[in-house]
Amino acid sequence: MHRILLLPGDGIGPEVTREARRVLDAVAPRFGLELAFDEELIGGVSIDARGTPLADPVLEKARASRAVLLGAVGGPTWDAEPVDRRPEKGLLRIRKELGLYANLRPASVFPALADASPLRPEIVKGIDLLVVRELTGGLYFGEPRGRALVDGRREARNTMVYDEVEIARIARTAFEAARLRRRHVTHVHKQNVLEVSQLWVQVVDEVAREHPDVELAHQLVDSCAMLLVKEPRRFDVIVTENLFGDILSDEAAMITGSLGMLPSASLGAGGLGLYEPVHGSAPDIAGRDIANPLAAILSGAMLLEHSLGATDAARAVRDAVSSVLEAGHRTADLVLPGESRPTLGCRAMGDRVLAALGGLA
Ligand code: NAD
Repeated sequence: MHRILLLPGDGIGPEVTREARRVLDAVAPRFGLELAFDEELIGGVSIDARGTPLADPVLEKARASRAVLLGAVGGPTWDAEPVDRRPEKGLLRIRKELGLYANLRPASVFPALADASPLRPEIVKGIDLLVVRELTGGLYFGEPRGRALVDGRREARNTMVYDEVEIARIARTAFEAARLRRRHVTHVHKQNVLEVSQLWVQVVDEVAREHPDVELAHQLVDSCAMLLVKEPRRFDVIVTENLFGDILSDEAAMITGSLGMLPSASLGAGGLGLYEPVHGSAPDIAGRDIANPLAAILSGAMLLEHSLGATDAARAVRDAVSSVLEAGHRTADLVLPGESRPTLGCRAMGDRVLAALGGLA
């Protein structure tokens, strides 16, 4: 039995998480999986109920789970809270306390949505890439850091630092993920100017030798940024350090054109993972049953794949989503400007995915 902790959070979080759970409940028995769900508070709703964005017992439940499925946190209600009581502190704390060092952000374009991309359809059709970003090291955490007044001038400094253990473990995550895909890893670096990148190239090469069935390429970060726009289909798995990954994962996401479609996973040691849609709590549409649940449902598919090893079940969920889109069903956010077609609400979109899963079983 696999324990899954649901943290629906704020805004549209509960609406989209509910649909993701229904899909997991439906798919699990067909693939011989037994899931036990528990549900807890995070973010603004936790501040209201418990005075903190993440209570310690919730963290303990997360540690005792196989995976955590999160909705979203935040909203204007809590914007005036002091910094350490803000909803997003709950998110940052759970990522840190669970030691989630690998952030996986797939960017794929469902054929039915190719027109939503800002790029021409012939460039985006068939994009299916995964950005694996190191999440707990590098420039965002390195010491020394800070600001000072030096000779009367304001100065600021940050430090990019990685050791070989940090690099090797994220490289392994990327190679393992590539084995479930098209077996190609692109390591993105800036080794012509950064010693840190030179170490990354060395260690990634060493890890590549443990995975002779996976092809490896090294790519400079500036040319990678260009190639993502010019020839995005050439990429399978991209692995890179924290800062480069922060920027490239957003660039890759934008190519797909649909915020309501993007899932993510943050993985730690031992298979524990936190899965969440990339979008936020969308307070402007919360509680109206019009949010797109597909990013949350696809986050559930990532959970099946990466925390439960249920690749077939994950594929069934993705195929169901794809067939619903092929059939022309859309939530309001997926309707292009100038296009007129009836739209489905959050619950009705979940129903369609469930129906498609029935058909695929
Ligand atoms: P957002 O992603 O919540 O919304 C941006 C726009 O996209 C809005 O117009 C929204 O209606 C739309 N949108 C987002 N998800 C959608 C979905 N599933 N279906 C249909 N439309 C969708 O970003 P924001 O407006 O910048 O932030 C709103 C709140 O969410 C803030 O409090 C912010 O701090 C928080 N936030 C949380 C997370 C997280 O929990 N991981 C991430 C980003 C923002």
